[in-house]
Amino acid sequence: MAFDIDMIKKVYANFGPRVEAARKLVGRPLTLSEKILYTHLWDENTSTSYVRGTDYVDFAPDRVAMQDATAQMALLQFMQAGRPKVAVPSTVHCDHLITAKYGAEQDLPAANTESKEVFDFLASVSNKYGIGFWKPGAGIIHQVVLENYAFPGGMMIGTDSHTVNAGGLGMVAIGVGGADACDVMAGLPWELKFPKLIGVKLTGKLNGWTSPKDVILKVAGILTVKGGTGAIVEYFGEGANNMSCTGKGTICNMGAEIGATTSTFGYDESMERYLRATNRADVADAANQIKAHLTGDPEVYANPDKYFDQLIEINLSELEPYLNGPFTPDLATPISKMKEVAKENGWPTKVEVGLIGSCTNSSYEDISRAVSIAKQVSAKGLKTNAQYCINPGSEQIRYTIDRDGFLDVFKEIGATVFTNACGPCIGMWDRVGAEKQEKNTIVHSFNRNFAKRADGNPNTFAFVASPEVVTALAIAGDLSFNPLTDTLTNANGEQVKLDEPTGHELPPKGFDVDDAGFQAPAADGSGVQVIVSPTSHRLQLLDPFKAWEGTDLKGLRLLIKAKGKCTTDHISMAGPWLKFRGHLDNISNNMLIGAVNFFNEKTDNVKNELTGEYGPVPATQRAYKAAGIGSIVVGDENYGEGSSREHAAMEPRHLGVRAVLVKSFARIHETNLKKQGMLGLTFANKEDYDKIQEDDVIDIIGLTEFTPNVPLTVVLNHKDGSKEEIKVNHSYNAQQIEWFKAGGALNIIRREAAA
Ligand code: SF4
Repeated sequence: MAFDIDMIKKVYANFGPRVEAARKLVGRPLTLSEKILYTHLWDENTSTSYVRGTDYVDFAPDRVAMQDATAQMALLQFMQAGRPKVAVPSTVHCDHLITAKYGAEQDLPAANTESKEVFDFLASVSNKYGIGFWKPGAGIIHQVVLENYAFPGGMMIGTDSHTVNAGGLGMVAIGVGGADACDVMAGLPWELKFPKLIGVKLTGKLNGWTSPKDVILKVAGILTVKGGTGAIVEYFGEGANNMSCTGKGTICNMGAEIGATTSTFGYDESMERYLRATNRADVADAANQIKAHLTGDPEVYANPDKYFDQLIEINLSELEPYLNGPFTPDLATPISKMKEVAKENGWPTKVEVGLIGSCTNSSYEDISRAVSIAKQVSAKGLKTNAQYCINPGSEQIRYTIDRDGFLDVFKEIGATVFTNACGPCIGMWDRVGAEKQEKNTIVHSFNRNFAKRADGNPNTFAFVASPEVVTALAIAGDLSFNPLTDTLTNANGEQVKLDEPTGHELPPKGFDVDDAGFQAPAADGSGVQVIVSPTSHRLQLLDPFKAWEGTDLKGLRLLIKAKGKCTTDHISMAGPWLKFRGHLDNISNNMLIGAVNFFNEKTDNVKNELTGEYGPVPATQRAYKAAGIGSIVVGDENYGEGSSREHAAMEPRHLGVRAVLVKSFARIHETNLKKQGMLGLTFANKEDYDKIQEDDVIDIIGLTEFTPNVPLTVVLNHKDGSKEEIKVNHSYNAQQIEWFKAGGALNIIRREAAA
């Protein structure tokens, strides 16, 4: 199962000379991020010094990771690419398609039955094309990658936005859509706009109730959900060195919540300890030999203002625990202020459920610190006032914490141990009573808390906190409880205070596992058959999208003018829809059903211009498609933030939407639109969003001259007969314009493979 040490040694053999060459080229000391980027350029002999935030650059990632929900579409696309085997080490992880209800013992067999067809498909495609396969129950992609594959100085892409978690082991790991994964697996370069760099200098040392989670909750409060867009966040300073490797992983994981391209930390002793503890002493030995190259140059960290585009400084010694939410991960409230803030905002303060684990906070350190709080329930005569649930990040973690008695402690406080899988974090939580849509509060150590994310209930107020704070609040059953200062009343009527959490960075007795859940691919997969039933509801082979017709787009109808936040969850909802991720036509029935229509403030209710009646978004779009009429989607700021799922781009493409015009895009979604041959445009003047009227007929002019850096024109033909012209920008480079013209990037790859 294990990592590919030969591949890592090959990367390291060239690392020093390539860093040296990059330093000369750039003419100054380098950050760690730049070292990893420059050592992974597709063109090893480049003589270009790239401009951050401007230049599109081709990279050669070392690995690809895919989770089951996105892997289906990534692999369906790869099957179209005409290649016999993946070109770089790749893995598939079955973690998203497992409903959490009763606990792992019942839930996992149920998922294996319910999603058998999909798991069998993923296993057979993996077997055929040389991809490592992690079975359902083996764990959550990012935890498994951190435990097995991440390595300092490496570059990885993954079809999940929290791929960035591997930055905790000093990687540049980036979430992408399945189309990008398909390119890299097909042996093609992977393109990215050279990121800007945000430095976060950590001083001091975490103490007491404060944990690495609070660092990223604080950073999210500072930068907001858009603040990291187009940038790599590089953490450094003595505070970073004082922190565990898995804690670094937590911080990098939630870099996705600030929109960052990725986050990373320089190689240090915590990473070495983690590599050795996870049976990768040879990686640690190899990394030690090029140690100086696996972190930023000393001059950079001595004068960070000079080398980073933006700098943030956090003193860990003074940091306090945070609770972020509800409904957005950047609404950061220090725990000492929660009482008054919750009151001011009318947030329900009774905590109904506390949930820990997930890919974000599943480390031995996290669990041992949470257990130190849970233990105090019986020791101090307390009771747990909320439900309590755990999603271990991997079978290795679950087995080890079970061996060390932690699961027994959790069970004593009434915990349900769900499968080693995403469960409630991705809306796969069959929560009793959620359908009543009652206003309620939950607290979790996951990373996302958009409306409906966990249980589908729009009235669930979800707050994100560290596992130890979640545990304390679940015991108290009260969002406004501050364990640093407040007391609880025990069974004897005494006031007791919870002691500060304590834990172990790594298991004192080492990690252990019986069956980790890995399945190696066939050495020669050419004879392996991949079967997709034509009558399947879950899987559908792809047909190529049509090429551009070669003319300007005229007579487009406005499908929806989305108001406010429109994440990939709003565009292609998860939860119950996850099961259709391998069937483009079926999943298209969720297209934009979560987006709020600007004109009536309703979700999934738009005007059908053919009938004048209001109806669901997918049905309306299908009517336009049937009538041969193209349409356009208009959106607000940071459109498509959230996950990397390309379904959010493929569904509109499949149903005949021709363009998405917004105030601004989230990076991954914008790229996904381009890959699928869609037009992704931004208002040159953001106020022009207000000019879009519900009955407009819209033309996009200038496509016959489609050129990088040249704006296009949109003509709004209003119902009253008046016309307005507005300028719209695009970020397509020459190659991406070719994708648009060919009807999608895959059409070009297939053409090249056949040539
Ligand atoms: Fe799974 Fe949640 Fe992690 Fe995504 S963020 S991989 S849904 S646990």
